[in-house]
Amino acid sequence: MKSTIVLLGPPGSGKGTQGEKLCSEFGYVKLSTGDMLREAVKNQTELGKKAKTYMDAGALVPNDLIIGLMKEKMAAANGKVILDGFPRTLEQADALAEQMDVDIALNLDVADEELIKRITMRRSCPSCNAVYHLVHNPPKKDGVCDKCGSELYQRDDDTEATVLNRLRTYREKTMPLVGYYYAKKKLVTIDGVGSIDEIYEKVKKAIQ
Ligand code: AMP
Repeated sequence: MKSTIVLLGPPGSGKGTQGEKLCSEFGYVKLSTGDMLREAVKNQTELGKKAKTYMDAGALVPNDLIIGLMKEKMAAANGKVILDGFPRTLEQADALAEQMDVDIALNLDVADEELIKRITMRRSCPSCNAVYHLVHNPPKKDGVCDKCGSELYQRDDDTEATVLNRLRTYREKTMPLVGYYYAKKKLVTIDGVGSIDEIYEKVKKAIQ
């Protein structure tokens, strides 16, 4: 089974959801730069204050901040790791390559129209970072996280206006990583449309 997995794919393609399932079943540790940044924003750290403007605009946080944030985490990771939302630029991919070998880059492929629907219907848990979809994956009790009981919220950047910027940013800055990992023979593209479980079956096959 692959030990270092990069989850590629646009916002809303299911990286967080599929990554979470792999963690529960196989004991991977998931490092999500988005979750780390939201935590920093919540705690109003220096990083959080700098990152917030970019995040709210649907832009990427500058590479030096992200690479600084991830450097220690990458150095400490010595087992099965899932990288969710990192790398997002070629510069970040090069910084990652200096620290660890990537075994597979899973590219979840979903059309923009579907992504917009998914993201605007997404609700997140501020405590344990679980994610739900109001129609396709609703919590058992309205507005409450199944896993930890916290009140769910809609991320500031999960609104329609910001989503369009996030998709544009993805195409410009992150899509080149598809070619990057293809050239390294690490890329596997998976159709990310279908039920969570159907997609998970394909993900599991890919990482065997
Ligand atoms: P996510 O939760 O992965 O959708 O990330 C939310 C936001 O955090 C993104 O829209 C970016 O503003 C920022 N972000 C997360 N990961 C990165 C990264 N690797 N590089 C730059 N910005 C990032």
